[in-house]
Amino acid sequence: MKTTRGFSDAAATRRGFLATLGAMGVAASVRGESAGAVASEELSRIESEPLLNVSFVKQPVRIASIELLRNGRVYLLRTRSTDGAEAITVPNPDRMAVMYPLLLKQVAPFFIGRDARDLERLLWDVYRHSSNYKLQGLALWVCVAAVEMSLLELMGQVTGRPMADFFGGTLRRDIPVYVASGNRGNSPEAEVTHLQRMVAESGARALKFRLGGRMSRNADSLPGRSEALIPLVRDTFGDDMMLYADANSSYDTREAIRIGRLMEEHRYGYFEEPCEFDDLWSTKEVADSLDIPVAGGEQEFSMHRWRWMIANRGVDIVQPDLHYGGGMIRAAKVARMAAAAGMQVVPHMSGGGLGYLDVVQFASFTPNIGPFMEFKGNTDLPVSCATSSLKCEDGTVRCPTGPGFGVTIDAGFASRAQPVS
Ligand SMILES: [Mg+2]
Repeated sequence: MKTTRGFSDAAATRRGFLATLGAMGVAASVRGESAGAVASEELSRIESEPLLNVSFVKQPVRIASIELLRNGRVYLLRTRSTDGAEAITVPNPDRMAVMYPLLLKQVAPFFIGRDARDLERLLWDVYRHSSNYKLQGLALWVCVAAVEMSLLELMGQVTGRPMADFFGGTLRRDIPVYVASGNRGNSPEAEVTHLQRMVAESGARALKFRLGGRMSRNADSLPGRSEALIPLVRDTFGDDMMLYADANSSYDTREAIRIGRLMEEHRYGYFEEPCEFDDLWSTKEVADSLDIPVAGGEQEFSMHRWRWMIANRGVDIVQPDLHYGGGMIRAAKVARMAAAAGMQVVPHMSGGGLGYLDVVQFASFTPNIGPFMEFKGNTDLPVSCATSSLKCEDGTVRCPTGPGFGVTIDAGFASRAQPVS
């Protein structure tokens, strides 16, 4: 176990900090309090254990076609089985706009003719296929995720089973969310007004805003904005609101620790991505130094590095992105490894498309899910759902129960989408 450095003033302050977070449901993530060190070998064993339950998919679901379609800025994947089943799913739109050649040339063709029930194994096979591993990164895995989610949907359609059934079953349907502001560069006062509006519209009991300047080598988006916002947001929303802040890789260790101490002083729930995201060593140094939990991993795509981060407590809360990291199965494996170390998972939500729905589905079946999921608001993509409004109501979003992702994309919208080649 790593050492934990307490608050500089008194143990009483630290106990108060922990008690506050405990009341907010995050005590399990505070460093050194309940987490156990887990050997890398044990995490390897957990990662290699079969995870996806397809025992109820009795017949092969052989993949006949995978087509990428586009309607405006929205991309759709239309996947059909040889038996005539069809799934229409939504890849991450912003990444697909630039990565689609990789999907069309290197990823989708590999799956044609395969049985979707082999999906978990096929994730490794497509990684090896045609030297795809040489392209290892978000660009590759976002394409694999697009196909992975479409095949989960396809099997959901064939069996009538919801997403959660493939991952051990539904644990919860009402998912508390935090609202996330995407602003930088506005004044602290303007940002607080924006946060107040988001909270009023959603009823959320948790929120997140942005610190620093995004990959900015310590420069703030406005001089002094972060130092002003941290106390101002706490003063504005009071002690009952869970507060998170995200530096998006802004700081070196020294500046991250300085900002993190300010967040501790104002009882923030976690500090997201303090240092450049691929600098695991600096991130761990910050996590070791601070009492506030450090969260991260939204750009991570390497299972080896996830294992290292969990075994070495490089972060306190893991945040796999369901698209960037290769899909639901790989993110669920990260969650299982984290669970073995007593760590929570709060998946990062890719904006656009149906990112909010993907996160809600993931939360419905993940035992060690954090107390609030990210919610950046509904998009204008036309979907219908009989089992959920899909809206944030009184701070929660209800997880659909229909087959697969549980929503139907408007047939007219899908029919107007044009094939991308
Ligand atoms: Mg982030």
